[in-house]
Amino acid sequence: MKNIILLGAPGTGKGTQAANISKWYGIGHISTGDIFRSNIKAGTELGLTAKAYIDAGHLVPDEITIGMVKSKLSEPAYKEGFILDGFPRNIPQAEALDGYLLEAGGKRIHAVVSIFVPDETIVLRILGRRLCSNCGASYHTVYNPPAKEGLCDACGGKVVSRDDDSEATIRERLSVYYAQTEPIIERYRKLGIFTQITGHEIIDETSDEMHEALKKIFCE
Ligand code: AMP
Repeated sequence: MKNIILLGAPGTGKGTQAANISKWYGIGHISTGDIFRSNIKAGTELGLTAKAYIDAGHLVPDEITIGMVKSKLSEPAYKEGFILDGFPRNIPQAEALDGYLLEAGGKRIHAVVSIFVPDETIVLRILGRRLCSNCGASYHTVYNPPAKEGLCDACGGKVVSRDDDSEATIRERLSVYYAQTEPIIERYRKLGIFTQITGHEIIDETSDEMHEALKKIFCE
């Protein structure tokens, strides 16, 4: 069993790396941001509540987020392990996760990897970030454009920016990350399960570094 947490400020490439990790180890990928976005798209009550926080660059309240993740983790798909992308994002969420895992049969987190990218690089990256409005595939205007401008390579859907990818919101999300999310690193560092890698411009370089870091943690 491999229970992994991926940390890193917004725009460091967590989604791409979480998808890699999910494939390498055959474990389920849970992205809280993706769950919120699909609820917004479907017009659910959860989506409506979350949208106001997300558009402002703030965290969705813990009462909503923690319950949502617990119910996801209880699905059979995550029995053999999971890669969490975007959760936990503050100390109460980290504590709630530990409590949930303990109650679910003495489980624990085995590895926490953070991706580091300098802030100014993050801002440039996020401003060029695009997403397929139909299937969610990710693109970048400079580093990874779709073959036909504005159209998804995978499904032909319209490729758009995320509503929360404006410069003011990005800066707010960065400050929320440093104030609320970074302090949880200490918890995992003390347990000896934390490691940090660098997020490179070339995705394959980041993927290689990620794979090596995980192999070391899992003694492969
Ligand atoms: P992400 O796709 O991970 O960048 O998440 C997009 C937005 O969803 C964040 O800026 C938050 O507003 C919200 N969000 C995602 N995960 C969480 C979380 N664990 N706790 C609170 N809000 C979250």
